[in-house]
Amino acid sequence: MGTRVYGQLHDPLDHATGIEKRELLAHLAGDCDPFRVLPIKRGPGTRERPNLIPSSNQQRLLGCKCNDYVMHIEYMWLHMGVPKRCGCGYWFELCPVAPL
Ligand SMILES: [Zn+2]
Repeated sequence: MGTRVYGQLHDPLDHATGIEKRELLAHLAGDCDPFRVLPIKRGPGTRERPNLIPSSNQQRLLGCKCNDYVMHIEYMWLHMGVPKRCGCGYWFELCPVAPL
């Protein structure tokens, strides 16, 4: 695979690869949160009604801010079709969205 060139030399996109490039391109397209990393309002978060995390992949990394009072984020991998319970007790599950 050769280097793909976008526009002029020294375009930052030339130096971005993979997921970083997709994020930059999404930004250029006006989507400021292409990977839905901004805080998602948590619902009940129970086993029956887990918080749904949009993902266009079979798996994604999720950061759970378990407690509003501490600046700590618990990171975990979620896999499509496999609900997961965070250490704080909230349940999460991926819901499929269209790929970028
Ligand atoms: Zn948590």
